[in-house]
Amino acid sequence: MSISQLARAIQESPTLALNEQARLLREKGEAVIHLGIGEPKNKAPIAAILSSAAKLTAGDIKYTPIDGIPSLKKAIIRYTEENYDRLVAPENVIVSGGAKQALYNLLFTLLNPQDEVIILAPYWVSYPEMIKMVYGVPVVVTPEDGSFVPRMKEIEQAVSSYTRAIIVNSPNNPSGVLYPESLIAEIVDFCERKGIYCIMDDIYHKLIFDGRTYPRAFKFTTRDNENTRLIAINGISKLYGMTGFRIGWVVAPTALVQVMTNVQAQTTSCTSLVLQAAAEGALTGLQSHVDTLRLTLENNRNVMLQELGSFTGIKTVKPEGTYYCLPDFRAYNGNSVELSKFLLKKALVVTVPGKEFGMEGHLRLSYATTVKDVKQGVERIKWALDPESPREIYIGDRKLVRDWL
Ligand code: PMP
Repeated sequence: MSISQLARAIQESPTLALNEQARLLREKGEAVIHLGIGEPKNKAPIAAILSSAAKLTAGDIKYTPIDGIPSLKKAIIRYTEENYDRLVAPENVIVSGGAKQALYNLLFTLLNPQDEVIILAPYWVSYPEMIKMVYGVPVVVTPEDGSFVPRMKEIEQAVSSYTRAIIVNSPNNPSGVLYPESLIAEIVDFCERKGIYCIMDDIYHKLIFDGRTYPRAFKFTTRDNENTRLIAINGISKLYGMTGFRIGWVVAPTALVQVMTNVQAQTTSCTSLVLQAAAEGALTGLQSHVDTLRLTLENNRNVMLQELGSFTGIKTVKPEGTYYCLPDFRAYNGNSVELSKFLLKKALVVTVPGKEFGMEGHLRLSYATTVKDVKQGVERIKWALDPESPREIYIGDRKLVRDWL
């Protein structure tokens, strides 16, 4: 079969592959616990459902403007004003099929072949692959061992004459860490001075714990909407738990949005009217939904930290937001892919290997599930790895005995 070199070089999404394995095990009746998942268990906000249902009932569902329906763009403008203290124009906004497509379109629009994009480890798995898909080169900046926060000095050292953009994702998938406001300020200022795009992937930006708030990145620039290098990506997937609705957006200078609109016009035309209406409903409806989700996640995070705390040898940096934490399992196995497979086989727990996020020796554990699953999931991992934990465990009514330690 003839397959392009470029397509061949793209990695399979590790998360989706693990989900598939877990699904097959579940189908066989195995009591799998999923700590790999990147979506919460909530139902979509009622305002989103009603708004999309109204479009379905009317039955008049056709192409929409490529960059999104005006009423959704208006809601995004209001969201940007409220949450970023920045008033933008409709020409600064484009709606895409999730933050994922938004980011891909943006990278396609910004990069020439061999241009470099700096990504900060641990990073979201899709960044390097997307950069490669548009013939760019991902340049990874890795923080000091034991920390998930990069240092400005190291970011600056990674910059070359080919650097076109830096992607910043805080709070961060997979570590849950929130970068200090001073770092965000430094990155924005540096990018503005050097003419490098600063892409803020803000998809988790309101899911922050312990009463903390996210830095409003636009306050660190004096440039106006058309001259800034700061670009914000956001969407409804994570904030509202509406992952399946596939709506995300970009806020950027008009000149970029125009080109991104051409790119989208030739690829997907537009996102579905039904789903855009749902996003509009979520953004304009009661926002208590986001608070409820945040509080649930914060509680689950606490439970997970407590469980991990009783686990000898595991080091965990406290997550300050998102759905995830990224404990260091090197005391047990430095090979995270091997460890993840082992845990799925022996303990029936899905985890995601840190290697995929540029953090070998770690596992990403999601607490966007039930408290019961968080507790039992970590308990099973402990049973499988920690010789100090009880040798026997019950999975359903099956008694398992650890015979490998
Ligand atoms: N950025 C990050 C950091 C993510 O974790 C995700 C989803 N896992 C996305 C972007 C893409 O989100 P969407 O569902 O809106 O495409």
